[in-house]
Amino acid sequence: MSFQQINQHCYYYHSSVNIGYITNGNTGMLVDTGIDKSTSKKVLKELHTRDLPLTHLFITHAHTDHYGGAQYIQSNYSVYTLAPVLEEAIMKYPLLEPLYLLGGNDPFSEVQNKFLQGSPLQVDELITEGEFQAGELLLKAYLLPGHSYHQLALSYERVLFAADAYFGPEILSKHGIPFVTDVNKTLDSLRILLQLDVSGAVPGHGIYEEEFQNSVQANIDYHQNLLTWLTEYIREYPDGISLEQTIGEMCRFYQVPADRLAQFLLYRTACTAYVLALKSQGVISDKIEQYRWCFYPEPED
Ligand SMILES: [Zn+2]
Repeated sequence: MSFQQINQHCYYYHSSVNIGYITNGNTGMLVDTGIDKSTSKKVLKELHTRDLPLTHLFITHAHTDHYGGAQYIQSNYSVYTLAPVLEEAIMKYPLLEPLYLLGGNDPFSEVQNKFLQGSPLQVDELITEGEFQAGELLLKAYLLPGHSYHQLALSYERVLFAADAYFGPEILSKHGIPFVTDVNKTLDSLRILLQLDVSGAVPGHGIYEEEFQNSVQANIDYHQNLLTWLTEYIREYPDGISLEQTIGEMCRFYQVPADRLAQFLLYRTACTAYVLALKSQGVISDKIEQYRWCFYPEPED
């Protein structure tokens, strides 16, 4: 972990989950907080050492590794908290995350850990996208869904805090199958990132890069390779294959670490996102067959 300065106003605390920091005058804003109290304490110590102010929190999306430490900060500091619409609902009612991952069933203790269910937050202001003022900072938010429903990236002084809109390339291969809720939206968001006029970007996981477009392109290629693998896999089953079997085979092929329920639920959602992308692209079709959700290859053009 290390606290790194990008320019006069922008910093990031580099860790397994990056925490951004933007300051001007008496305003200081953290971009995400890390997963828990101990992560937040480390970044607060860095701010204190450098005599940097803390007045605002901006949470990019409602995944606990990004907002889990926020409640501790809210309880101990006077901060004004901003978050994206919709994501805010999950931060206010964190039970919603294990609930949606379970497919709607009531969560139980096994899936109510700090990785899937954060501590509830009070959000003071909802952000959709575009420019907004926070103290002395004039910021711009970019709507980049696909990894999370209303994820926002943030730019200031041409530095982009990209949240999980892309991952450092080494993170992609570590995860095997990246967490996405919608692959088409993920790809659209990645293409938006390629067009942004900024001087560098910090992903949620990875390192700050000026030439971050190469990493973004590596993400596009990675998702497309997964879609190609999945297309070829389903084409081996002209009589259809169930979603459950497809998920199992995809996890096996990419050797993902999913032997516990909490991890498996995340991979199940991600695999389903790839299957649904092929359905939306007309590459496969689906029907309920013998009470199973099954997928069928469409004839190739
Ligand atoms: Zn995330």
